[in-house]
Amino acid sequence: MTPAQSRVIVHVDMDAFYASIEVRDNPQYRGLPVVVGAAPGGRGVVAAASYEARRYGIRSAMPSGEAFARCPQALFLPVDMQKYRAVSSQLFDLLDTFTPRVEPVSIDEAYLDLTGCPAPSTAGASPEAPGGSPLAFSRAIKGRIGETLHLPVSVGVAPNKFLAKLASELAKPDGLREIRLEEAAAVLAPLPVTVLWGVGPQTRQRLGSLGIDTVGDLQRTPTSVLRASLGFAAEELARLSRGLDDRAVEVSRETKSIGRETTFEEDTADREALLRTLGALAEDVARSLRAEGLHGRTVTLKVRYENFHTLTRNLTLPSPTNSGAVIYRAAVGLLDRLAPLPRPVRLIGVSVSGLGRVGLTQVSLFGEEEQHARVDQVVDAINERFGEGTVRQARAVEGDDPEDGS
Ligand SMILES: [Mg+2]
Repeated sequence: MTPAQSRVIVHVDMDAFYASIEVRDNPQYRGLPVVVGAAPGGRGVVAAASYEARRYGIRSAMPSGEAFARCPQALFLPVDMQKYRAVSSQLFDLLDTFTPRVEPVSIDEAYLDLTGCPAPSTAGASPEAPGGSPLAFSRAIKGRIGETLHLPVSVGVAPNKFLAKLASELAKPDGLREIRLEEAAAVLAPLPVTVLWGVGPQTRQRLGSLGIDTVGDLQRTPTSVLRASLGFAAEELARLSRGLDDRAVEVSRETKSIGRETTFEEDTADREALLRTLGALAEDVARSLRAEGLHGRTVTLKVRYENFHTLTRNLTLPSPTNSGAVIYRAAVGLLDRLAPLPRPVRLIGVSVSGLGRVGLTQVSLFGEEEQHARVDQVVDAINERFGEGTVRQARAVEGDDPEDGS
């Protein structure tokens, strides 16, 4: 196994991906604030904002109406997911030429493990030094993306995933950066603790109460003190604060099905509670399908009763889908076939199989499904940007309605 210090991990992250594609394809938009997402008149949100638009404080996930208020002269464009997905496949085809070890993170973001790869040849430029320094690799990748896709991208390179992602973030926009292990602690020290993976609002608050606000504060705190407050997470956090991270680049294998399941804290037979959970699971499954450019025909519902008796029921749709709404409706249909439930449910799950690639020319969405697809895409874009669960479609939370009576 390669020692952690000598790994070469690259993080590639396109800048303002959807907006950059629109500007590339419409040169007259260059230099203008461009906002891709819902129209400002409706209740939808921004999916991507060009750097010019960000100067007005416009951000992904902001309601389009608010974006309009901040910058009425901005160019508001609809989400064209087919187009962005096509560019994404070009990007991943290109990344595959550098190494087979590519881990897709989202439509426009990936990790590459280039450890031991031959030095990159840069067409048109003088040959790189033999052995290929980490920086030479990332320069070659950035160069090729620029030549091929004509889009801005930020590339970070480091001996691990955590530092590689931090490097690309610090390089944004359109930048290139290496973080070597020996400089990692110094680079991290002034940054807020939230740059560390796993530090959400709760952990941040807990650390804050110990007087730990920056990574530097964390580096100076003995692990025993951290352990008392954070338990098992302490060691991992102490390591990350010094830039240490052993996670491997996970190359995705051929996917046969995509599913999600959840175990209830308390067994339940309440239909509303089951539907609410199914809604959230279906949304999750749909989002994963779309992130991988897949759709599927067969929806399977899994139910485990309180006595651990488990059964599955499935249904094949007339046409493949990656819409949360369609998956949800199919799952509800399957659940209703089990009614009345003989006993409370311990676990419920939804999966989709019979998977295929979403064809680039196969844009035969229509009617209701198209509307759902539009909403799904914007929700995806926001969750990609801000992490799972930032935005849930109304259906997934409708059980919170006080009139619901549950
Ligand atoms: Mg990006």
